[in-house]
Amino acid sequence: MPDESSQRNMTKMQPNAHHHGEHDHASHDHGEGSCRHAEDHARHAAEALARAERLCRERGLRLTPIRRQALEALHADHRPVGAYDLADRISPAGGRRLAPISIYRALDFLVEQGFVHRLSSKNAYIACLHGHGANEVVAFLICESCGGVDEDSSPAMKKAVAAIAENRQFSPSHQMVEIVGRCEHCRNTGS
Ligand SMILES: [Zn+2]
Ligand SMILES: [Zn+2]
Ligand SMILES: [Zn+2]
Repeated sequence: MPDESSQRNMTKMQPNAHHHGEHDHASHDHGEGSCRHAEDHARHAAEALARAERLCRERGLRLTPIRRQALEALHADHRPVGAYDLADRISPAGGRRLAPISIYRALDFLVEQGFVHRLSSKNAYIACLHGHGANEVVAFLICESCGGVDEDSSPAMKKAVAAIAENRQFSPSHQMVEIVGRCEHCRNTGS
């Protein structure tokens, strides 16, 4: 297990290294309600949570219980989750629902730290499996059929977005490209 800094460098130098292409196909059955997106999250959630904890320590920030619960709940789903839905999922059974302001604060923190992405087109949040920085240029491939989301980036896209922004003297704070369609698995299974 490489240490965090070398892992970060690796991600920088190999923007496609998080693609997990070798795990994607053929080796598993896709049962009802299951898809590769769900498997990706199940497989990498623990590692992503551990990374979030480590980064909070390094940055001198606290992963408070509500922040942690929100992050865990997002990792438990491979589809984007809205803030109110998330509040329901992390409120204690039979207990009081979390105030929206509390859940939004927790989500803001998680987005700022790059642990979670907000998808504008869905008004919903998805846990990042890749350790993307909050200001990274990321393309989201949002499947309308299974609801799963893939993330990818490339140096060429980063350059193109930077050139467009510079051309307009625009200072970007949120650099995400949301692409909606059908994922490879859903296309292949006709679902
Ligand atoms: Zn990400
Ligand atoms: Zn799909
Ligand atoms: Zn899927």
